[in-house]
Amino acid sequence: MVAKFLATDALADIAAAWARAYRLLAPVREGQAVVYRPWAKDMHPFLGRPPTVSAKEALFPQTENLLTYTYRKDQNDLTRTEVFLAEPLPQEPTVLLGCRPCDARGRKLLDRVFLERGVKDNLYEARRKATIFVSVACDRLENTCFCHWTGGGPTSEEGSDVLLFTVAGGYAAKALTEAGERLLAALPEAPAPAQEELAAKLASPAEPGPAPDLSAAPQAFLALFDNMDFWMDQSARCLSCGVCTYLCPACSCFNITDEPSGMKGKRLRTWDTCMSALYTLEGSGHNPRVSRAHRLRNRVGHKFCYHPQEFPAMDKKPGGQPEFSCTGCGRCIKACPVSVDIRRIVHDILEKGGKP
Ligand code: SF4
Ligand code: SF4
Repeated sequence: MVAKFLATDALADIAAAWARAYRLLAPVREGQAVVYRPWAKDMHPFLGRPPTVSAKEALFPQTENLLTYTYRKDQNDLTRTEVFLAEPLPQEPTVLLGCRPCDARGRKLLDRVFLERGVKDNLYEARRKATIFVSVACDRLENTCFCHWTGGGPTSEEGSDVLLFTVAGGYAAKALTEAGERLLAALPEAPAPAQEELAAKLASPAEPGPAPDLSAAPQAFLALFDNMDFWMDQSARCLSCGVCTYLCPACSCFNITDEPSGMKGKRLRTWDTCMSALYTLEGSGHNPRVSRAHRLRNRVGHKFCYHPQEFPAMDKKPGGQPEFSCTGCGRCIKACPVSVDIRRIVHDILEKGGKP
């Protein structure tokens, strides 16, 4: 494999060239945060650390228009009303620059929900096919990262179209899909020292350290399901703010609302969060997840029990762990205002639920 090269001082020009052919979403610094923004003149892509937000918004926007509708009265028969529906335009070819391998693996987990449950989500599918993920391999793990617990790693290729490796003077780019190859076609080959540095990185990738075996997590979770003392203890600090779910590359809950305006209107899909008390509040006033303990139990259970049960051994390697709906990106840990740590919860589940 001969890698292509993105020189650091040419990065903005390369991004500008991509932006002429694609809708480009690039990471930029805004205050303390790193967020994706549509490309604009004089923008400086920042690849120095993982974006604060996950990459899921490129495929599953925070708010999107599912359709617009118009009512028209039949002037010859006023008891009749016709309804005209218009779906959004086809998706533009898009490049998402600067996500991390944990985000790219999240793309696979969103596919499970939106494409592999029997009914395909057309909008998601169109966006998925039109989007190229250019990820940056991590040289080191932050203290909240645990991608290697859940089947990933700092150089995992799963879900990426291009993987960039930091080398002297820029990035060595490895194309992983045909779409990635097309994107890199016009770039120069990496110079010999960069190729050698890349070969050395591939031969001995960043060592993430030991990881606990989570294979027993689904059964241990079920053993603790009715132990509300355990869940009240785990959720005692939780504020139900939902930040953990909004930043998660694998969380996919949404709400659908209609916004009428006279004889027309639009139907919107908006992120929702199972950590909110309103999420399961029924019209009757009954709420099956009435407390924070119930809601945290659901969030953790979905990721480490219900998902592996619903998609049994989809990617299970011989002797390996089930697939969890968590890529170990650590964003929920980093952003939680009261330091709820999902690693600690899973650890406690295994310790307390795994015992006979
Ligand atoms: S649960 Fe937390 S660590 Fe796991 S993918 Fe979601 S945000 Fe990342
Ligand atoms: S970010 Fe923390 S406080 Fe907010 S809902 Fe999630 S666990 Fe609770």
